[in-house]
Amino acid sequence: MILLNPGPVNVSPRVTAALARGDLCHREPEYGALQASIRSQLLRAFTPGGGFTAILVTGSGTAALEAAVTSVLSARGRLVVVSNGVYGERIAAMVEAARLPHTVVAGPWTEPPDLAAVERALGAPDVEAVAVVHHETTTGLLNPVAEIGRLARARGKLVLVDSVSGLAGDALGVDTADLIVGTGGKCIQAFPGLGFVLVREEAMARLATYPRRSLYLSLPVHHEAQERGTVPFTPAVQLAYALDEALAELLEEGVAARIARYAAAARLLRDGFTKLGLGFVLPPALRSNSITSLWLPSGRTYAALHDGLRMHGFVIYEGQGRLAREIFRVANMGQLARADFARFLAALAEVLGT
Ligand SMILES: *Cc1c(COP(=O)(O)O)cnc(C)c1O
Repeated sequence: MILLNPGPVNVSPRVTAALARGDLCHREPEYGALQASIRSQLLRAFTPGGGFTAILVTGSGTAALEAAVTSVLSARGRLVVVSNGVYGERIAAMVEAARLPHTVVAGPWTEPPDLAAVERALGAPDVEAVAVVHHETTTGLLNPVAEIGRLARARGKLVLVDSVSGLAGDALGVDTADLIVGTGGKCIQAFPGLGFVLVREEAMARLATYPRRSLYLSLPVHHEAQERGTVPFTPAVQLAYALDEALAELLEEGVAARIARYAAAARLLRDGFTKLGLGFVLPPALRSNSITSLWLPSGRTYAALHDGLRMHGFVIYEGQGRLAREIFRVANMGQLARADFARFLAALAEVLGT
C-alpha cells in the first residue's frame, strides 16, 4: 500500500529491518548508547549550528507537543497561540486543558496569520512564549515562523514551533526558535510512536525551574534523565532502533536533499492535478513540500475517491475540521519514488474518469 496520508509513511526496508535489532533492556548501557546516538543525530540534522539539546518522548507527536506546551511557562506566564488550522487549535486545547493562561490569535485556515495581531498579543506583560505550527497539516500551509520568531525574540519571549509535519520536509530556520517539536513518523521516515523536542540550552535551564504540570509529559524530567544516559520511564525500544536507522538514512541523503526530493515530488503531483483540472485550496506561495490539499470535485464524495484509489493500492487523506466535507489531501512523505507518484496520477485519472 502506498501511503499518501501525512504519516504514518512508507519507510525503507532498512528502517523496517532495524525493528528486529534484538531484545534490549532500557536500563542496560546499550540503550543509553542508542539514545545518545538518536539525540546527537537529531541535533546534527536539524540544529547543526549548535546550542540545542534533544529530548526524546515515547508517544505520538501530540505527546511531545503537549510536553513542550505544558513545560514552557513559569507560574506567572501566558502563552500566545497562533492558530490557522486544526493543529494550532490543538495547541490552544492543550493550554486550555492544563488551565494555563493563553491568548489565541486565530485566523482563516487558508491564509497566513495576521502578524500585527500576533505583535499586539505579544505586548501583554505576562506573555512568556508564543507557539506556532510550522507546517499546518490541515491544509498544507507553511506559516511564517521566522517572522513570528523575530517579533517574539525582540520582546524576549520564547518561541515554540510545532514542526511535527515540517522537519525534513520543509526548511525551518531554527535561529529564532527555542523549542522545536518533531516526530519520527512523518518526514523523518521512521515509525509513529516516538517524538522529540529540540530545546535551546538557555531555555532548558529556565524550564527546569518551572512548576511541573504533568508527571509523564514534563520536559525537564525527561531531559535530566537523558543527560544522565538513562530514561525516567520505559521507552519504545524497538521504535528507537528504527528512528536511529531512519536518522542515519536522513543524514546520508542530507536534509537539504530530502527537502528537495519532497519538493520535486510535490511539483510532479501538482502538475498532474492541474492537468486533471483539480482545484488547489492554497495559492502556490503558501504550499509546503509535502501536502497538497484539493477541493473535492463537485458530485464526488471523499469516500468514493478514497475507496477507488485504495483499490489501486493508494491511501489518500480526508479533510479535517470544518474542511472535512470540502477537501481531500495528498501527502508525499515517505520513501517513495517518482514512479509511485506517476502510477498514482494514472489511478486518479481513472477513478475520476477523466
Ligand atoms: C501529525 C501532527 C501532529 C500530531 O502528531 P501525532 O503523531 O498524530 O500525535 C501535531 N502537529 C502537526 C502539525 C501534525 O502534522
